Amino acid sequence: MLKKELNLYTFGDLLHHFPHRHIDKTQVTPIGQVDPQMDFVQVRGVLQGIDIFGEKRSKRMVSQLKDSTGQIELTWFQGINWVQKSIVAGQAYLVFGRVSFFNGRAQIVHPEIEPYVAATAGQKSLLEPVYPSTEKLKSRALNGKQLGKLTQTLFQQISEKDLPENLPAHLLKDRMGRWEAYRQIHFPNSQQEYKKALSRLVFEELFIAQVRLNLIKIDRHKNSQGHKFVIVGDYFNTFYNKHLPFELTGAQKRVIKEIRQDTARGFQMNRLLQGDVGSGKTMIALLAMLIAADNGFQSCMMAPTEILAQQHYASLSELLKDMPLEVALLTGSTKTAERRRILQGLMDDSIHFVVGTHAIIEEVVQFKNLGLAVIDEQHRFGVAQRAQLWKKSKVPPHVLVMTATPIPRTLAMTAFGDLDYSVMDELPPGRQPIKTVHRYETSRASVMDFVKTEITKGRQAYYVYPLIEESEKMSYEDLMQGYEQVKSFFPEPKYKISMVHGKQKNIEKETNMKRFVSGDTQILVGTTVIEVGVNVPNASVMVIESAEKFGLSQLHQLRGRVGRGSEQSYCILLSSVKASREAKNRLKIMCETNDGFVIAEKDLELRGPGDIDGTRQSGALNFRLANIINDRAALEEAKNEAYSICEQDPNLSKPENLVIKAFLQAQKTKIGWGKIA
Ligand code: ADP
Ligand code: MG
Repeated sequence: MLKKELNLYTFGDLLHHFPHRHIDKTQVTPIGQVDPQMDFVQVRGVLQGIDIFGEKRSKRMVSQLKDSTGQIELTWFQGINWVQKSIVAGQAYLVFGRVSFFNGRAQIVHPEIEPYVAATAGQKSLLEPVYPSTEKLKSRALNGKQLGKLTQTLFQQISEKDLPENLPAHLLKDRMGRWEAYRQIHFPNSQQEYKKALSRLVFEELFIAQVRLNLIKIDRHKNSQGHKFVIVGDYFNTFYNKHLPFELTGAQKRVIKEIRQDTARGFQMNRLLQGDVGSGKTMIALLAMLIAADNGFQSCMMAPTEILAQQHYASLSELLKDMPLEVALLTGSTKTAERRRILQGLMDDSIHFVVGTHAIIEEVVQFKNLGLAVIDEQHRFGVAQRAQLWKKSKVPPHVLVMTATPIPRTLAMTAFGDLDYSVMDELPPGRQPIKTVHRYETSRASVMDFVKTEITKGRQAYYVYPLIEESEKMSYEDLMQGYEQVKSFFPEPKYKISMVHGKQKNIEKETNMKRFVSGDTQILVGTTVIEVGVNVPNASVMVIESAEKFGLSQLHQLRGRVGRGSEQSYCILLSSVKASREAKNRLKIMCETNDGFVIAEKDLELRGPGDIDGTRQSGALNFRLANIINDRAALEEAKNEAYSICEQDPNLSKPENLVIKAFLQAQKTKIGWGKIA
């Protein structure tokens, strides 16, 4: 029963089935004061007559609880036989439950009920735990309170040695011990003690998780085989000194140095590069690839979409045009002959760099000596796909994962804490912050006029329509309508418009895209296929239709398509007046900040950690008590402590760290707790 209903298998599970609240017996509401505003109430009174109505499935039991101020109705639909046996009319009871009002009368359905015993001076605990339970269990007399009794019995049978301390002494200075914390979280002496217990257990949870992540990372640094990039040679230096089109930003310099150090040690690099849109991640990828080439290794670079792969290919080819390096593009639509040539070139090492989509990880693609894999726009590639890359050479290639959207720091720390981590928190110089406004669809005409003035100045503009599912017929028609609408505002031949969407053939998409990139068309109407990576510095306006249908990170990505040149850029978010309050809140955040890291934090707050792209599967986020948003401060401390401990004592063999080691080992073998019958 416990197993099926609550997933409680062992005493350990029971111990970790934490109460969701505590009843304070001194907090009793006079029945006459119960009103519809109240959610849960605790009342005390004398039980009146018990009536049973109906038969079988429609059976219900009703009684009234009365005190000097009024009376409240108590109703049961389930477990009637059992409850009936355990209550007696004329006795005093303490009753807790959710109040509802029916015909103006207060009632509690399925109340928690127990004989009232006045709190006495010597009473051990005034706060009684109430546990999450289910109706079915309640009907079998295992309501939240009975679970408490079970837990209490459990505590009588175990002792401090069953819950040994797992934090080193220096972290216990202002913190409750482990055994004490477990007791106090279930049966606190006071609210204050409860809070102390909770914060101790939250910290422990975060700390242990951080220690684990650190140990995984240290193990990889020490034990994983990796290619050793010993030199920075001609390719890198020639490019850097002769062909680099701009001065690197401070952040770019720092990151390339980190990569350089990482790849020189002979262990596999597994680095996550976080940088806001437009911070110049592509250049980092190229520089890293040049280092690989200097050491005789090939590199691949994977992008999530064909358009993006093409664009990366085009910009790498342009940057490397005077260098003796062979670059190839491999996607799903690469023609057979070309494909054969590329596969051969990768096998015989005549191709140094290959840019592409998922096509690269297919079985048939084999490298002579793959040394570096760059994955752009990380969250669209699953872990399994990444693992495919490993198979492409005996020694796994170094991996550089570049994220499209910043991940909140707290999330990155927990979900990706075992990766090496670089942040580019600086945009190339000369960029002006994008001006973002929110307008209702009713003012579309004036928005179009504004776009016209920008185009007259020689700029270009994007018009984006939400196409949630590329196959969705409805939104496809919306897009076509939108296209006609834009056309009517910007008549040919004075204006030229190109359109891209997922239903087009690749060649068509490519042609339209190219026309916009080359400045032949002034307006690009499209769906979110233009979302990632596209780089047209002359484009200065981004208009997003039905902006309320997009999430924050997507809006930020789209906005990142403008503001890439030195001109002032604009992002106009059009929404229906009827958009929901949350949606309008998102748009407001967009208008307030350009900082992807701030937006990522807000996104996390609004959506919760489970919903952030790419982290859903991450077991690292399944905390029992901790919440990485509310417990940020604890997470920060846990992270710093775990880092310095693991750094100084990676085997956890110093006397003060043995408690951690013992705990981790015990967890591995999961000993110590018998099963609940
Ligand atoms: P993202 O980080 O979004 O992938 P990109 O790599 O596409 O950004 O770079 C955005 C634009 O900034 C490109 O036009 C690129 O050439 C330019 N860029 C990159 N680094 C610098 C720099 N240090 N100085 C000036 N422009 C730069
Ligand atoms: Mg990019």
